[in-house]
Amino acid sequence: MNLTEDAKQKLILGNERYLSGRLHAEGFGARMREELAEKGQKPGALIVCCSDSRVPPEIIFDQYPGDIFVVRTAGNVVDEIALGSIEYGVEHLSIPLVLVLGHENCGAVKATIEGEGGHGAVKAIIDKIKPSMEKHLGSADIYEDCTDENIRSTMEEIRKNAAVAALIREGRVEVAGAKYGIRSGKVCFF
Ligand SMILES: [Zn+2]
Repeated sequence: MNLTEDAKQKLILGNERYLSGRLHAEGFGARMREELAEKGQKPGALIVCCSDSRVPPEIIFDQYPGDIFVVRTAGNVVDEIALGSIEYGVEHLSIPLVLVLGHENCGAVKATIEGEGGHGAVKAIIDKIKPSMEKHLGSADIYEDCTDENIRSTMEEIRKNAAVAALIREGRVEVAGAKYGIRSGKVCFF
């Protein structure tokens, strides 16, 4: 199994543990902190997900501190600073998998569809999601279609980043997408 598949498999198994209610990561303690402090971090996956408090990536994937590198923004959109964090993760930490994780009932997607232009810096988030909504105007389930499109759009933006693109060409990084069911707790990979 290659590194990317291995990383994906770890997340899938972690989400299965979360669904079953038998979490492993609860056993994290002083000795493991000590080890992380000495050896540094070597996360297996980089997760770009929404800031929504119902979608905590460490918990829904049952991961320990040190396991996943996380970038969180409302609506799981990326800007220059988020891309900088991603570049750091794939280049310096050699993370083989970047997973864009959207979710059902996303407030940022809802605000975009309901035409709340957003004020202040929130407008920048709405403006990022808007093209995904416009692609699906008239759809029977615009919320779901816009959510999925927004995940794909963030994936594309990350893939276009020069550092990420170079690593993809070398077969060292993969950018994947998935969606979390707020009610079910299940993560469905695209
Ligand atoms: Zn959200």
